[in-house]
Amino acid sequence: MIKFENVTMAYRKDGNPALNDVSFEIADGEFVFLVGQSGAGKSTILRLLIREESAQAGTVLIDDINIGMLPEKEVPKLRRNIGMVFQDFRLLPEKTVAENVAFALQVLNKSPDEIKQTVPAVLDLVGLLDKANRRPEQLSGGEQQRVAIARALVNRPAILMADEPTGNLDPDTSVEIMRLLDQINKAGTTVIMATHDAGIVDQMRKRVIEITGGAIIRDQAQGVYGYS
Ligand code: ADP
Repeated sequence: MIKFENVTMAYRKDGNPALNDVSFEIADGEFVFLVGQSGAGKSTILRLLIREESAQAGTVLIDDINIGMLPEKEVPKLRRNIGMVFQDFRLLPEKTVAENVAFALQVLNKSPDEIKQTVPAVLDLVGLLDKANRRPEQLSGGEQQRVAIARALVNRPAILMADEPTGNLDPDTSVEIMRLLDQINKAGTTVIMATHDAGIVDQMRKRVIEITGGAIIRDQAQGVYGYS
């Protein structure tokens, strides 16, 4: 369970807060869209969850653990339990698909045997086993995003966070990526996705949390992007 309790966060002491008294809960296994204009505060919510930023007031909890109070040495463990996917994929260009995924395990000192087993399994999950030896530049945008999703899943995180994952993709490819995220969610992973993509949000009919100027103005089950 993710819980924000009256969270206020400002990047500068004298500036307007990026989040202002924000409270919400996300249960395990939910799929939630964070929507709102650029600068609304969506990414700030994601950054607080991985402790890239800390709130000035209020509490951010994951499974009753106060993320803001987490000792520094516990932060890597927190981040291993949260997969991250970005608009710009963030793959290593000189490494193959398999090496990109393996690298996420190597930095955690996983054994070669475990890496050898895990990499094909996650590539199979995202439908890219046959392209394991290609480099990112030899893949389409949608395929690169699949690699990024595979990499985010190697540690079997309980939570997958995606920040505008379809932002660089055409509409058909975006639908495919959403099918994959839906499948991952149905297998039990909590998915939180920040997006501007109205078409996708309207098609998926998942919970929608709308943020404006750092405040939640709507929290709707099976929601749509915006009211017309
Ligand atoms: P969104 O993800 O909805 O586009 P953000 O959470 O990135 O919005 O930003 C919320 C607000 O915080 C915006 O006003 C933005 O300009 C500001 N902000 C974001 N990151 C920083 C930063 N590193 N330093 C200062 N201000 C920031």
